[in-house]
Amino acid sequence: MTNDTLFGKIIRREIPATVVYEDDEVLGFKDIAPQAPVHVLFIPKNLYIPTLDDLKPDQAWIIGKLVLAAAEYARGEGFAQDGYRVVMNCREHAGQTVFHIHLHLLAGAQLGHFGTP
Ligand code: 5GP
Repeated sequence: MTNDTLFGKIIRREIPATVVYEDDEVLGFKDIAPQAPVHVLFIPKNLYIPTLDDLKPDQAWIIGKLVLAAAEYARGEGFAQDGYRVVMNCREHAGQTVFHIHLHLLAGAQLGHFGTP
């Protein structure tokens, strides 16, 4: 299945992004419209999973990889002790706009409450 999403194009370097993290399985790049002083998106490079609801049990390991990548980035950038938030939006009511699974990392300031309509 071809990943024709925006993030598929970023993985293939067809469109530019500010990449701040990369390993064999995960790419991390700055969000184009940051919602906090630090806003990085972590995505699978080799698995195409549109939403969290499409995740299969044998793909569950990639969620751990995304979270560990975010935690490693936070330590490396020196804000792990201050704290951060990771968020994954699934479909319409959560506001998902790009249908290639991704983990938001938000940090760099006191974050507000979330989850209310
Ligand atoms: P979602 O709303 O699907 O959870 O998150 C998608 C995120 O992708 C949004 O925060 C949005 O700002 C970001 N985004 C949309 N287009 C681009 C782009 O072309 N480049 C980058 N780096 N981020 C993008």
